[in-house]
Amino acid sequence: MTKVYYDQDVTVKALEGKKIAVIGYGSQGHAHSQNLRDNGNDVIIGIRAGKSADKAKEDGFEVFSVAEATKQADVVMILIPDEQQADVYAAEIAPNLEAGNAIAFGHGFNIHFGTITPAADIDVFMVAPKGPGHMVRRQFAKGSAVPALFAVYQDATGNARDIAMAWAQGVGATRVGVLETTFKEETETDLFGEQAVLCGGTTHLVQAGFETLVEAGYQPEIAYFEVLHELKLIVDLMYEGGMEKMRYSISNTAEFGDYVSGPRVITPDVKDRMKDVLTDIQTGAFAKRFTDDYKAGFPDFHAMRAKQQGHQIEAVGAELRKMMPFVNEQQ
Ligand code: NDP
Ligand code: MG
Ligand code: MG
Repeated sequence: MTKVYYDQDVTVKALEGKKIAVIGYGSQGHAHSQNLRDNGNDVIIGIRAGKSADKAKEDGFEVFSVAEATKQADVVMILIPDEQQADVYAAEIAPNLEAGNAIAFGHGFNIHFGTITPAADIDVFMVAPKGPGHMVRRQFAKGSAVPALFAVYQDATGNARDIAMAWAQGVGATRVGVLETTFKEETETDLFGEQAVLCGGTTHLVQAGFETLVEAGYQPEIAYFEVLHELKLIVDLMYEGGMEKMRYSISNTAEFGDYVSGPRVITPDVKDRMKDVLTDIQTGAFAKRFTDDYKAGFPDFHAMRAKQQGHQIEAVGAELRKMMPFVNEQQ
């Protein structure tokens, strides 16, 4: 079992007396900044004018342009969308950093794929909570936390690892445990997970199941319940206790069918294609495709999104969810 770090492992108060700028006030930005402020740290927000800037002010933060916040800060956490980070870094962050400052990330994409190359006299680290921002904030407020990964890419001052661990403590993560990783490992595994299993794999599995039932003449509403709605119940059980708890809770009929038909659907060639996906991530081919599309105004991204939004399962689901107001209540 890999080493897990807790509160008692954070022996150096490396953020004490340091000015922190959180760049971006979205999902991750609001959670990092509010948790660190509650932890007693000196936090300001760097952001463009707009909705998030207004929200940060409402929440009582001092709000500056990205350039100005960077200028004032010792530690700069960059939590704007991955595809925008390189441009904002070049224009507003890099020119305002001083030797010995630290920059930080919630995901290793831009450092790992080389779209941001920090100066050699800057510390570079990552703290990536393993959950969406609202959960990071909500668990912290309850006295708990979401676990996180941390990594050091560049240690110019000799303090980078202490600062990273102090940050992990400030967002609360050492209450429950943090794991050390590298930018390479975090970036490649995060992209693989979301593409092959969590997002890409799951949506396309659900969609294929829905189409199979509908094409065979079953009612789309029934198909929706069977392949999408009930997925949450199954995933919740796996989340609580692994495959074992899920299989213990379902009927023997369902468990027997799992063993018989799962391998017929997820055949060995699916794993071969997962390896192809991983290769595209490792070689940078995926990152290049994403970055090039962003630079062109996201034509492929918008076309793929429009195509998926038009799928029958979305229209059927929107109607059925009106019967189930509870699906949008906070658990
Ligand atoms: P969001 O899209 O939720 O928030 C982005 C924020 O950046 C918004 O406040 C937005 O403000 C601001 N912003 C966008 N463009 C600019 C700009 N050009 N200049 C200044 N501010 C800008 O991002 P996430 O929190 O989802 O992602 C941030 C980072 O965290 C990414 O690296 C991501 O990979 C990582 N991460 C995200 C997780 C998640 O669950 N969402 C989980 C773990 C890591 P505005 O309102 O004006 O658009
Ligand atoms: Mg991700
Ligand atoms: Mg059933």
